[in-house]
Amino acid sequence: MRKHIAAGNWKMNTDLHSGTQLAKDLLDQLPAPGDTVVILSVPATHLHAVAQIVQGRPDVHVAAQNFHQEAKGAYTGEISADMLKAVGATHVLIGHSERREYFHEDNALLAKKVDAALAAGITPIFCCGEALAIREAGTQNDYVGNQLKESLFHLSAEDFGKVIVAYEPIWAIGTGKTASPEQAQEMHRHLRSVLANQFGQTAANNCSILYGGSVKPANAKEIFGQPDVDGGLVGGASLKADSFAAIVQSF
Ligand code: PEP
Repeated sequence: MRKHIAAGNWKMNTDLHSGTQLAKDLLDQLPAPGDTVVILSVPATHLHAVAQIVQGRPDVHVAAQNFHQEAKGAYTGEISADMLKAVGATHVLIGHSERREYFHEDNALLAKKVDAALAAGITPIFCCGEALAIREAGTQNDYVGNQLKESLFHLSAEDFGKVIVAYEPIWAIGTGKTASPEQAQEMHRHLRSVLANQFGQTAANNCSILYGGSVKPANAKEIFGQPDVDGGLVGGASLKADSFAAIVQSF
């Protein structure tokens, strides 16, 4: 059975003080550990402190938002996957649309990042999704399928089994516009069939595919209720403890 996952992406928000307070407030409001896995994707400066705060909650994990694909070396200002792991990150976002757009990360580079995360023993949360123009042209299925192909298809089925996928239509990120539950389900079903063709039906059935794009307490239940939607990657609504706690309880 695949897991229900509620992942919060804090992006470049909060300082160490307000971020650790947010993590504490969230823990106060979360239900007792159950079937839902909670992941907090926090700024790199907060990883160690937030990992300490969530210690003792086996259902709550800490994720980084980015890292460098090389293991070490002369890359001034960069952080390796091993460094993230050493400060408590168990997961990492790879290929978020903001990294693709503002930092020109392409599918080939993201394939290297997936390998580097797996080599360090960190779970990749591989983000994919189409821009509005692609959705309007009706070519979103091929476009997003190709993102998976170029960044994940080199993996063995065993390594693929360690990857979480997050489908985030770019036109729904931070815009208040959410994909309808039907649009989310249609894409998630498509992606699962693309993954089944490459890795086999069992591996595809076991893969958690999250939806991201303006998820909030008011729409989470309906989106998470779709058969191929296994949870959410949540930006804005994860910055308030009460709204993210409500989303965690939407399964
Ligand atoms: C995100 O940053 O991954 C995201 C989905 O943001 P928001 O929930 O704010 O649309």
